[in-house]
Amino acid sequence: MTGTCRFCRDGIDPKKTRIMRKSKYSYVALAYPRLVKGHLLVIPKRHVERISELNNEELIDIMALTRKYCEKVLSFSKGYTVRNNYMPFLTETERKVNHMHIQIIPRGDSDKIYAKSITLENTLFERPSKEEIEDVIKRLK
Ligand SMILES: [Zn+2]
Repeated sequence: MTGTCRFCRDGIDPKKTRIMRKSKYSYVALAYPRLVKGHLLVIPKRHVERISELNNEELIDIMALTRKYCEKVLSFSKGYTVRNNYMPFLTETERKVNHMHIQIIPRGDSDKIYAKSITLENTLFERPSKEEIEDVIKRLK
């Protein structure tokens, strides 16, 4: 798959984004497009699609950068969300790249994500049934 994704093919477009820091196996860049001000991507240099494909050195490297930049975003935000999506069922777009990356999203109680999600929260969150809980536990043991 190397060379087929936007990150590998084009790298991070310097006209659209800014690389904040490079380490041995990964780098941190401003997301483009972004959800909120300061939305960051922590990206392994080697093309992998799932976090489980990282070797131990790469995993330690990317998590160390994630930890460092989680603290840095607190200089201008009240909190953050850290996430990694693996959704190979979606077609690649400007917002969807099949190159594993961790998103650090600065958060606050007045950001647009909070404002939009709070209106949907009651319809998105459900109490799982006893059967669902037992099924998921059985599958994940
Ligand atoms: Zn790639």
